Amino acid sequence: MPLYEYELESGDGCGVCGGKFTLRRPLSAKPLTNCPLCKKPVRKLISGFNTPTITKPVSISDAKKAGFTVLKKVGKGEYERQ
Ligand SMILES: [Zn+2]
Repeated sequence: MPLYEYELESGDGCGVCGGKFTLRRPLSAKPLTNCPLCKKPVRKLISGFNTPTITKPVSISDAKKAGFTVLKKVGKGEYERQ
């Protein structure tokens, strides 16, 4: 699945998602308009391609190197690092 990069429309940081995050989404998925974690409006960052292309494999460790923490909601107000 292609990896998409998003940031909050406000451009602000966020204590939940960090204000900028990457998500792996199926091509058939609807455009993401709100952060799945904090529900604030987000925009997809354009990388210059209309068709998403993956130039190298992106792993969770790569995402962490890029400063992204992968979080999964495990309960009310609780998130689990993956
Ligand atoms: Zn957020």
